[in-house]
Amino acid sequence: MTAGIIDGKQVAAQVQEEVAREVAALKEKGLTPGLAVVLVGDDPASQVYTANKERTARELGMHSVLHRLPATSTQDEVAELVMQLNRDPAIHGILVQSPLPKGLDMDAIIRLIDPLKDVDGFHPENVGRLWTGQDGLVPCTPAGVMRLLDAYGVDPKGKHAVVVGRSNIVGKPMAALLLARHATVTICHSRTPDLPETCRRADILVAAVGKLQMITAEYIKPGAVVIDVGINPVPGFKKRIRGDVDFDSAAQVAGLITPVPGGVGPMTIA
Ligand code: NDP
Repeated sequence: MTAGIIDGKQVAAQVQEEVAREVAALKEKGLTPGLAVVLVGDDPASQVYTANKERTARELGMHSVLHRLPATSTQDEVAELVMQLNRDPAIHGILVQSPLPKGLDMDAIIRLIDPLKDVDGFHPENVGRLWTGQDGLVPCTPAGVMRLLDAYGVDPKGKHAVVVGRSNIVGKPMAALLLARHATVTICHSRTPDLPETCRRADILVAAVGKLQMITAEYIKPGAVVIDVGINPVPGFKKRIRGDVDFDSAAQVAGLITPVPGGVGPMTIA
């Protein structure tokens, strides 16, 4: 193996220490930051994610509440909870866990969240702010990737960054953040022809595809920084997860690489 490993656990621990210090400083001034996490239904993965968010916020000293609504909830019931949280002065951040159960409209719920409390950064106002270079709330996974790049001294300025994936949650905000830091950005997706060739032009390659170990060594320019956002179950193993990057082959070619688990994942909650 030639690549250096980007240790997401270590950087996430630093971020959490900083957050705990900032929370303590706010509390000294009489303000306890409050986070509300909303879980509708009983999707097993969502239960784990929301429990982790709620617990981490509490451990870092915040006021942290998990609201659970049944899968049979109506659009109006979810909307009513969001509006109540918008009005609640003890709550400063609202996370509505996706996906919502079938029949509920996530986009409409996101539009109801007060943009100032939209800590996922999914409200169209915050998306617009991100793309127009104004301060706003930024989606956590791509923000975590930027923090990892900074922690390892990777300056995107003047580099060619290729982002594989164009979701609103990862791919698009990732591209916006890299562009804001003066990278030349290419966004790829399922209709991109010659994907390996395009990826091989990347100084910074971000994989956010959701396809187990799809990105192999042939997609990677020697010495490139490879960031693997993917979290994919491994068939035949109950608890094993792997990324979108075939780590073993990619690490022979890349300069720096994130492992899965232990790379981008820990940064998301932090
Ligand atoms: P989505 O399914 O919403 O988006 C996947 C993107 O990949 C789409 O833009 C799709 O293209 C593109 N794509 C799919 N197949 C191919 C292909 N063969 N070649 C090129 N592009 C392709 O996923 P998310 O963005 O939500 O998540 C991506 C991955 O990141 C998942 O594994 C998810 O679990 C993980 N994730 C990890 C997080 C973390 O904390 N580390 C947080 C969030 C997500 P098109 O638009 O054309 O369909």
